[in-house]
Amino acid sequence: MELNSKQKRSSPAFFCLNTNLMHIAIIGGGAAGFFAAIALKERCPEASVCIYERAKRPLAKVEVSGGGRCNCTNSFAQVADLKAVYPRGHKLMKRLFKTFDHNDAYEWFESHGVRLTTQEDECVFPVSQDSHSITLCLQNEARRLGVVVKLQHTMHAIAYDEATKTFRLSFNDGADSVIADRVLLTVGGQPRAEGLLTQLAALRYTIEPPVPSLFTFTIDHAPLRELMGVVVENAIASLAATKFKAQGPLLITHWGMSGPAILKLSSHAARHLAEASYSAPLLVNWVGITNAEEVAAELHALAGTYPQRQLSSVRPYGLQSRLWNYLLQRSELSPEKPWAELGKKGFNRLLNTLTSDAYQIAERYPHREEFVTCGGVALSSVDSNTLESRVLPGLYFAGELLDIDAVTGGFNLQAAWTTGFVAAEAMSKALTR
Ligand SMILES: Cc1cc2nc3c(=O)[nH]c(=O)nc-3n(C[C@H](O)[C@H](O)[C@H](O)COP(=O)(O)OP(=O)(O)OC[C@H]3O[C@@H](n4cnc5c(N)ncnc54)[C@H](O)[C@@H]3O)c2cc1C
Repeated sequence: MELNSKQKRSSPAFFCLNTNLMHIAIIGGGAAGFFAAIALKERCPEASVCIYERAKRPLAKVEVSGGGRCNCTNSFAQVADLKAVYPRGHKLMKRLFKTFDHNDAYEWFESHGVRLTTQEDECVFPVSQDSHSITLCLQNEARRLGVVVKLQHTMHAIAYDEATKTFRLSFNDGADSVIADRVLLTVGGQPRAEGLLTQLAALRYTIEPPVPSLFTFTIDHAPLRELMGVVVENAIASLAATKFKAQGPLLITHWGMSGPAILKLSSHAARHLAEASYSAPLLVNWVGITNAEEVAAELHALAGTYPQRQLSSVRPYGLQSRLWNYLLQRSELSPEKPWAELGKKGFNRLLNTLTSDAYQIAERYPHREEFVTCGGVALSSVDSNTLESRVLPGLYFAGELLDIDAVTGGFNLQAAWTTGFVAAEAMSKALTR
């Protein structure tokens, strides 16, 4: 009896015929690899599924994700357009979400014993606030289903044998090799994926050059750095003369600028900034209002209400006093000057500083670890329904290795769950054909 796709989804452990001799190799024991292995084994219990992982421990990135709390998905309640959160891959994600989306991920973890909670900012975490709830769930589930995990197995080469339609994988500089019927590559982003990407390029895959995303900016301006620790709740950061712009909290650090607005900007402009060698003019709107006339009206209102008060003593938009005094200095205005004596030129300088304060990004701050990779296997190289290679049938891709990446908020792990699940489901269907 044929099961329809809905029945297959609701009762995944249907029996796969002819899969008992199949060996499926999943390369990379991270979020996508484990999720795919479990989904595959649930659907094809007879198949031999093995995860080959380079490191001594699997799921290392999930463990440190979200500062050790694991922001495992997002409610998407504030996402009107997927492009805003997936600068690369939004169209494919929209399609794949029809098979497995954030609601499915939420339900999956809850039904596998991990209670989740949605924060006010719509980010989803385990109730335990501990990423181990997620990593242990994945490892226990994989073990229960009989997924084999081989640690310290670094895959160095992959070759396809046309005659047998199998893959020869070599590990640890050729010390080990394995024949697999199907292969799923989930090796994550750079730098580890780099060697593999070179091999895939040689196999005629289109590779979007990998560059970092989600980083902060070094800004060599001592008076700004002295404001270290100041948080502006609603700023807009943009790259001058480009369309790249991001709004949200901005944090001033001892090296320059950080916080959600900067991370979002670095994500949307990841390739542009890489091409500019991370040196670019940055504009900051400290009040989060793009309409300069509206800001001008607020300044006029303050000047009208408090004409004799010193500039430093009346702060627009509740700006912190350290920041406000700095912005007055940037506008060449004495903090003691009364509002009534601002003058036209002073007024315009202040308006410009508040809405379009110019800095130069000196470099990408190198010491922040929460990078994801922009680039990887081009989406044109994979079937958009199955994530199977268009070059080598039987080879699949999932996770950050694909040219899909997101801003912060649980969207990157959601991409790993979704692509892992879709690839596994497609593989299971192909095995039963
Ligand atoms: C510090 C940090 C915090 C993060 N926090 C969050 C968060 O809270 N929420 C969120 O959504 N995203 C977060 N991310 C991003 C998220 O962790 C990744 O997007 C996600 O883990 C990608 O999953 P993946 O399975 O594709 O890759 P990975 O999780 O990186 O797994 C790939 C695995 O493949 C292995 N591997 C690599 N090469 C080989 C090889 N040749 N042979 C065998 N194995 C190999 C690696 O060792 C690794 O275990 C964070 C990232 C970082 C760095």
